[in-house]
This record gives sequence, C-alpha cells and structure tokens, in this order.
Amino acid sequence: MTKPIIGILGGGQLGMMLCDAAKNIGVETHVFCLDNDCPSKGRSTYFSVGDYADKKEIIKFSNNVDYITYEFENIPIETIDFITDQKKIRPGKKSLLLTQDRLTEKKFLDKLKVPIAPYKDLRTIDDISYAKNEFIDSIIKTRTLGYDGKGQFSLKEFDDPNEVFNKIISDSIIEKRIPFEFEVSVIIARDIKGNTSFFPIGKNIHENHILKHTYNPISLSKNQTKKLIDYSERIITELNHIGVLAVEFFITKDQILVNEIAPRVHNSGHWTIDACSLSQFEQHMICVSGGEVKEPVLKNSAHMINIIGEEIEDWCDKNNTEKVKIHLYNKKETKKGRKMGHITELFNKEKIF
Ligand code: ADP
Ligand code: MG
Repeated sequence: MTKPIIGILGGGQLGMMLCDAAKNIGVETHVFCLDNDCPSKGRSTYFSVGDYADKKEIIKFSNNVDYITYEFENIPIETIDFITDQKKIRPGKKSLLLTQDRLTEKKFLDKLKVPIAPYKDLRTIDDISYAKNEFIDSIIKTRTLGYDGKGQFSLKEFDDPNEVFNKIISDSIIEKRIPFEFEVSVIIARDIKGNTSFFPIGKNIHENHILKHTYNPISLSKNQTKKLIDYSERIITELNHIGVLAVEFFITKDQILVNEIAPRVHNSGHWTIDACSLSQFEQHMICVSGGEVKEPVLKNSAHMINIIGEEIEDWCDKNNTEKVKIHLYNKKETKKGRKMGHITELFNKEKIF
C-alpha cells in the first residue's frame, strides 16, 4: 500500500520535527520552503524550494501530496488560495485567517466569550492616552508578523503619547500588561471527526520575550484545569481546526486569560517527544492524515529548555543521556535570540513542578 504524503509549507524546526514524526506513524512528507538550507532539509521524503507567491510551483506541490499542512502561521493567504483542492488543507484556512492578525484573533476570542486581556485597536494618539489612563501599564503589539516578542514594546504610565505614537511603524494594538502569576499553554488536537485530546498542561517561562523553559506536569486546581480545557476546546472546535493547536494563557490570582493562539505545533510542546507516549508532532500528523486523535500518556515528568543563540556552542558536541535529550535544529547561522535547539530533562513521572 502506498503511504499518504503530507505536504508541509515551511521548513523550520517545527517542519523538521513533523518530518521525523511522520516516519514513526508511517506517512511520507514533502516540504515546500523558501530556503534550500532549512532545518527540514534531509528530513522529509521530498523537498521543494520555491516562493510562496509562485502559483505554478504551489499548484505543482499541492498536486503531488495528499494533504497540506503548515508549520508557521504567516503563510500568505494567497498561497492557500492557489491550492485547487481546499479540502486537502489541514488545519484549514480559517485557523490561519483568524490568527494571522492579533486584532482579528482578539475579536474572535471576544465573540467566543473567552476571557482575554483588555485591549484597544491603536489608531490615533488618543488611543494611547486612553490606554495610559485605563490600563496604566500596557504593551503595544504589532497586529501581524510578530513572534518571540518581535514588534512589541512597553507603554508606561509616564511615557509621552506623541513620542510613543511616532515609534509605531505598523498596524498595532495596545494591551493591558497583566500581572500574571505564571503562564501555561494547552496543546490540543482535533481529528476530522471532531474528537479532541490534549497533552498534560505545562508552565512556561520566557526570558527576553522568548520561551526559555517549559515544565510538565504542574499543579493546577480542578477549576483551573476545567477552564483551560473548556476554552481551548471552544477555540479549536469553532475554528474547525484539524491537527494540533496551542493556546497560551496568563494565570492570575483569580483569572485565566487567553494570551494568544498558535494554529500549529508549538515550542511549549517539544517535551512531548521524549516524555509522552506520543508527541505533539505525531498527533498532528495522525490528525492531518485522517486518523483518530490519540490520548497521550505521560511517561516522565519533563523540563524543556530552549537553546538560544550562542548557547548552541555548549551543546553541539554533547551526547544524549538517559535523562537528557538534545535536539539541535542544524541552523546554518547562529543569531542572537534565534532558537537553535532544545533539550528535555526527564524526571520520574511522580515529580510535579
Ligand atoms: P509572541 O507572538 O511574540 O509570542 P506574545 O503576545 O505571546 O507574543 O508575547 C510574548 C510574551 O510577552 C508572553 O508570553 C508574555 O510573557 C509577555 N506578554 C505578552 N503580552 C503580555 C501582557 N498583556 N501582559 C503581560 N505579559 C505579556
Ligand atoms: Mg506567544
């Protein structure tokens, strides 16, 4: 029997780990990406280099695969529109459309009655004055193309609204800074029949706006867990999403607020490769290829640490041990703030962080 081929738009580390997972579940992969030297090179069954705006190449790629998924949410919508058989696209176009723009995403969450941080569409200097009065401390975020804190800056109580307004170079929103106790993310998956399943919920710690640590499992109250799952299920179901999706949350003393949605496998789920009966990447590929979502079982407690920028030098000559698993992304260039790899430290599964 021929194996189904899953096309992946994007060839970064998420694509690379999707390709590795595909081998475990018996499907083939075809990566389409801009860069001949990307982390997925050599890991997929088939590989094409091309431009996402090249209609002919995208059509050719889509005709050669059974399903099409993506490993980053900033795939141009026109690329998705080039694909003749839209049913092949899993997670689906809606997930991309709603999450590519922070304002659209927030309006979607408001409509779903999922609690989020107070925010304002930033259009005029008056919006900045409003935020200073109402939110006191806030964060200005670019509506599109932001990641790892890029395109974000703080708005403080005594900042001059005119000066701040002049610094803004792209359409943005202002969001109240939330004095959260900690951040968590829910990695949830949905199959073509609409069944959902989620991984144990982990705690995330960011350094310089970049995820640095994820700890699993953590201690949450029944009520907190129920809300986290309920909100995540509402989101994935309303998006009609097929595959894995991540929801980032802020946990305060008395509130659970959605920070943002990633319509794909997520950095805070990398620990599942080494510590769960199935990884987020395998789960995604199972759902995309039409299989039924599985229930992941925790094998070990885990602490995932991202290897950022020059930290890679401490890890490139190290070997895996029973308790420490190293994943390097083979990026050609080391840059400050760039995710170069991650390690997962494993513990006895009774350990709760
Ligand atoms: P990115 O797309 O870069 O991940 P996020 O909106 O998730 O953007 O912001 C990155 C990190 O910055 C968050 O995980 C959190 O630590 C911090 N942050 C973002 N928004 C807020 C907020 N409203 N209040 C407090 N911290 C925030
Ligand atoms: Mg984020």
